[in-house]
Amino acid sequence: MAKVLSFFDFQEFFATEHACFDYLFKIRWPNGFICPRCHHDQASFVSTRKLFQCCSCRYQASVTAGTVFHKLRQPLQKLFLAVFLFSTSKKGISAMELQRKTGIKSYKTAWLLLHKLRKGMKSTGIFPLTDPVELDETYIGGSRQGTTGRGAEDKVLVAIAIETRNKKKMGRAYMKPIKDAGKKELGQFVKEHIQPAQQFTLMDGHLTNI
Ligand SMILES: [Zn+2]
Repeated sequence: MAKVLSFFDFQEFFATEHACFDYLFKIRWPNGFICPRCHHDQASFVSTRKLFQCCSCRYQASVTAGTVFHKLRQPLQKLFLAVFLFSTSKKGISAMELQRKTGIKSYKTAWLLLHKLRKGMKSTGIFPLTDPVELDETYIGGSRQGTTGRGAEDKVLVAIAIETRNKKKMGRAYMKPIKDAGKKELGQFVKEHIQPAQQFTLMDGHLTNI
């Protein structure tokens, strides 16, 4: 049986700006750079603007084009953290809270990002995970470690589904707060985010017969 990814693996995966950038690059160009305009496969990297410039037609392409992060000009780590906070907050999150917790300096940027995330969430089910998926559920948040005592009430149980293109690389991921780890809640999560053909390759034993 394959190893089930924990939330800690997930955090480790996005530990640096480079890791976040690399993640977006691999989603956009899983087989290496392809120019969106002329389909040439060689590019130079414009490091000051973090853009790839096509060696043939000189078109400049970014890894964030077509994502909720497009044109936000913020460190990716802050944006990834915002997605995490947004998708795991029990009662929703305000732009001001998002701004404070991520360290995004401008309120307007935090507001715009929140708006884009809300809009993006509505596309749930339109882009189901299509590669083999690993599923996990974990408690996150809380002001103290452990599951009892003060702080435990802040914890949120979250379902996580991550595409695994091979044993080491992660693809896209979905996270959602769930009421419990029962079949009904997880079943609904699987139904919403994972393509039916992949639903039988889930690694967690008790989910294989959903
Ligand atoms: Zn080109």
